[in-house]
This record gives sequence, C-alpha cells and structure tokens, in this order.
Amino acid sequence: MDDQILVINCGSSSVKMAIFSEQGEQLHSALAERLGQSGARLVPDQGEPVALADNAGHREALETSIRWFRDQGYLDAPVAIGHRVVHGGEAFHGAALLDERVIQAIEECSSLAPLHNPVNLAGIEAARELYPGVPQVAVFDTAFHQTLPRHAWLYPVPRRFYDDWGVRRYGFHGTSHQYMAEQAADRLGKTVAQTSIISTHLGNGCSITAIRNGESVDTSMGLTPLEGLVMGTRSGDVDPGLFDFLAGKGIEADETHRLLNRESGLLGLSGTTSDMRNLLREADAGNQDCQDAFEVFCFRLARYIGAMMVSLETLDALVFTGGIGENSDRVRARTLEHLILPGFVMDETANRDHGRDTNGRIDAPESRFAILVIPTREEAVIAREAATVAAERARDKNMSN
Ligand code: ADP
Repeated sequence: MDDQILVINCGSSSVKMAIFSEQGEQLHSALAERLGQSGARLVPDQGEPVALADNAGHREALETSIRWFRDQGYLDAPVAIGHRVVHGGEAFHGAALLDERVIQAIEECSSLAPLHNPVNLAGIEAARELYPGVPQVAVFDTAFHQTLPRHAWLYPVPRRFYDDWGVRRYGFHGTSHQYMAEQAADRLGKTVAQTSIISTHLGNGCSITAIRNGESVDTSMGLTPLEGLVMGTRSGDVDPGLFDFLAGKGIEADETHRLLNRESGLLGLSGTTSDMRNLLREADAGNQDCQDAFEVFCFRLARYIGAMMVSLETLDALVFTGGIGENSDRVRARTLEHLILPGFVMDETANRDHGRDTNGRIDAPESRFAILVIPTREEAVIAREAATVAAERARDKNMSN
C-alpha cells in the first residue's frame, strides 16, 4: 500500500476522518456522528453505516473507525496524521508537530474555544495512543490569520481585556481561506505572494477574509466563530447592547450564548431551517420569513465584501467557496446585485454553471474584478501540511543522526 496520511477532524458530536495518498488524493473518508447520543454511527463514503455503541465518545468512535478502515483494507500504518485544531491563539502561526509542549499550548487555548479545543485534544490523545510512532501534526483554523495587522485585530474595549485575557480578533476557517489564495493564484497564473483576493467561505459557518499578497489582513470571525456574517444557526454581528437588553428580560448569559449560536442566523430568521437549500425551496413556495432570511444573508455578505476592500490596495479576485458559495448561484447573484458601485459584474451563464466550464471564472467581461467559484478542500490542506511537517521532522532527525 502506498504511503497514506490520515486526517482527523473532531467536532462537538462528530469525527470526520479521511485518508489521503501522499500525492494529496483523497482515497476514503468516513463520518462518525451522533457521538455521546443514542444512535451513534459511522457513515463511510462508500457502503452501509456501521452502528457504534450507544453514547460512544470520540475515542471509541476513532478506535472503531480506524479498525473498520483497516478491516476494509483501506488503511495500513499512516506516515503522518493531521489533526484539525480550531484555536491556536497567538502561539501558532502555522502547523505544528504534536509533542507535550504543543499539546499544553493547545490546552491553554481551550478557554478561548471551550466547545472545540477539548474535543480536538480528545482526538489527538486517542490517535497518539493508537499510533504511538507516527508523527502527528496540528493544523489550526486560526494560524493563517496571525498576519492580521494590529489595527485589524484589536477590539476597541478596555485594554486589559487583551492584556489579561487575550481578547482580540483571531479569525477562523484559515485552512480554507489559505487554500483559496493558492487556488486563485493558480487560476490567474500568478504566484500566491502576488495575489490579493477577498475569500468568502459560506457553509454552515460563514466567514470572509481579505488576503493581500498571500497574507490574511482582515477577517470577519473574531474572538470566537460567532462574529461576522449571517450563518446557518449563528447570528454573526449583532448590537452588543442586545446582551444587556436580554439580561433585562431575564435571559442569562449562557442562554444568550445558545440562542445566538444555535437558534439564530438563517434558522432564527426563517423559523424553520438553517439549510440554504431548504430555505430557498420554502422561499420559492412563498414563505416570507425564508425570503427575509435569504435577503439578510446576501445583503450582509455584500456589505462585508465592501468592507474587506478597505484592507487591499489591489484586488485580483472575489472568491466564493463552501457549500453555499460553491453551489448557490442565487446567493452569488443576489449578493453581487448589491455591489454594482465597486464594479463587480457577473456572467449569468457562467454563474449558473458554477464556473465549471470557465476554470471557476463567473465574471462578465465588463467586471472590474475577476469573480471565482472554487471548491474548498480543507481536509486535503490538513493532509498536505501534516505530510510537510512530518517530512521536515524526518529530515531533521536524519541530519542529527
Ligand atoms: P459545513 O460548514 O458544515 O462544512 P457545507 O460547506 O457543506 O457545511 O455547507 C452547507 C450549506 O451549503 C447548507 O446550507 C446547504 O444547504 C448549502 N448548500 C449545499 N448545496 C447547495 C445548493 N445547491 N444550493 C444552495 N445551498 C446549498
């Protein structure tokens, strides 16, 4: 079997796993879902779901999944394992080989991402026990945004919030935005260091990043992934005065947190769905709340695209990615209707075709800027980073021998 890289992405109640070849080709994948609940199961990309023990946790899910991959003959001993880690704080500007020091630093970032870092660490711990000799690499959602200039990451709140608690903009979806910069450069025939783009990642979570000469210089998510654009169940930006207003209504901070993270965004506005596909279906059937949700989503996205231009001197392309960005010609079209003044003009046919016949391009000839649709491949980037860091370690080891 050729050398393989295993990618592990632990969410709050799920584990996504993917096996890549060293050339970056995804060979197999599986999703363990409903963890910690009844009906926990493993759903492979091919074949039937496999039941996991009721209330199976991350560790059990990983063990069962890896055994299953092996039994199918899909996985031998991987040469590297890449872990998605949500929060790297200011400690990590790139991927890091996991050792005790790095694990401790990830633990220290847990207070900034209490829902994410502990489950990421559970996956790391389980994988290190299962594969003690294999180099394991943490790839951070935040690392790409560590190039943000100070004026873009400081919040205008009392200084001690940052000094004492690290309250600042960190930004997320870094692997996806970084990949967009690389892909856009490739398609435009430039180097990444020459390329400036606005990258919109629109999935269940949504964020937008301004990338100047290959570096992140502004981004919409902040201290947490709640800030910025309208998302599936997250509100994005709201008036901070809302917190005090809700407190006056007897709604406590943890309930406000839940309402803004889980019951807002498209779900909150529509009252029925967080899923853009369903939302559009119901909007077409005349549901006014769904129409409102669509309009607010597109308007706020357009407003942020305008805002991101402030951080750039030139713009090579506006890029759409994520489940919505890649697949919804209607979201792209409506959003760009708000952006006539800066000069974005779409080609309707190319947009309807999601740029498939035009190397991702969906801009009309008279558009001031290129507009691209590019599928994201976060797992592939994690695999690549893991392979690179593992190879560097092997080289260092050889040199010191
Ligand atoms: P995640 O952030 O969980 O990885 P995805 O990137 O898969 O999520 O994006 C999920 C979103 O993409 C959902 O809102 C889904 O409805 C939307 N989506 C997928 N296909 C389409 C489509 N053809 N039209 C509109 N929205 C779509």
